[in-house]
Amino acid sequence: MKTILFNLNDSELEKFVTDMSLPRFRSKQIREWLNRGAPNFNVMKNLPEDLRNKLNECAETLPVKIVKKLESSDNQTTKFLLELIDGEQIECVLMRTTYGNSVCVSSQAGCAMGCKFCASTLLGLKRNLTVNEMFAQILVAQWELRGDKLKDIHPNGDANNGDVSHIVVMGTGEPLQNTENVIGFLERANSEMNISWRRITVSTCGIVPGIKELNKWGRPINLAISLHAPTDELRSQIMPINNKYKLQEVLDAAFTFSDTHNRQLMIEYILLGKKDKNGDIELYNASNEYAEKLSDLLYGHNVMVNLIPWNTVDERDFASISGNSVHRFQDILIKKGIHTRIRRERGADIGSACGQLRLKNAKK
Ligand code: SF4
Repeated sequence: MKTILFNLNDSELEKFVTDMSLPRFRSKQIREWLNRGAPNFNVMKNLPEDLRNKLNECAETLPVKIVKKLESSDNQTTKFLLELIDGEQIECVLMRTTYGNSVCVSSQAGCAMGCKFCASTLLGLKRNLTVNEMFAQILVAQWELRGDKLKDIHPNGDANNGDVSHIVVMGTGEPLQNTENVIGFLERANSEMNISWRRITVSTCGIVPGIKELNKWGRPINLAISLHAPTDELRSQIMPINNKYKLQEVLDAAFTFSDTHNRQLMIEYILLGKKDKNGDIELYNASNEYAEKLSDLLYGHNVMVNLIPWNTVDERDFASISGNSVHRFQDILIKKGIHTRIRRERGADIGSACGQLRLKNAKK
């Protein structure tokens, strides 16, 4: 099996280099390229060609390899399907926004949570990702943004000037089922990539002990709760985790986190419809009544509700609702004094809903 050089620490990399009868300084050169996200050795222009060829034969640069790369028609979103060393696949999305470059990172290969609207869970959980496998996802995005164009990207890259500036741990997997590695990854992203805590968001379906652990960790990151329903009855139908941690318990832990760190709590709410027998679309969790109930739950707290119009997943039994229904739901929340926005659909043309690309590839 090839050695993954990114997984070696400095002295291990130096040993690897000297074992090849190369001078020590080569390990420094290689490290600089690895820290920029070099996808292979061919791009390492300051290494002699015969050395690059030799390295290609016995080593890999990163612990993830790009299997597929899709670009949205507006060129603002790039979605990567990445392969890990054991053949498992994950997704990672780079979003170029007006406020910076945001990377949506996966924390697990697959997911065990079984949310009924999600493609990522259809093949079950394969395994947790390591710190390096998560870190490598932002390096893939960084290379996409900069390639070898900037000499000194890392660790002193300019977060406001074309480098990765924001991280959302909202890709495949439930981050708080892999809390220790997620924390290790975020500590590194903060210290090595200069990404401030306030530009980092962790999203959970509501693992209460994990939220408490994040609170204890004490970094002022943003917390997002995938809520998607305002009653236990409805939530349990679409999110099995609700049978273990009830809605109010999840919200109480989340409110404590946001109050402790003085951060606005993000509430994620996918607006779902369902087809009736005649093929007409009925509102599932998006009725006026549910909007009122959601407002009551959140009233008086520092929250931002992100309404997410459903992004079709063929294997799932839900339907998109009309733009009018989306706006009506938002209006009710706003009238009740709840900060609410509709999340702009990004990269719908490249299947940006979590897990779709991985699922399609696995079926082949
Ligand atoms: S929504 Fe998140 S927690 Fe739920 S199944 Fe999908 S990846 Fe897992």
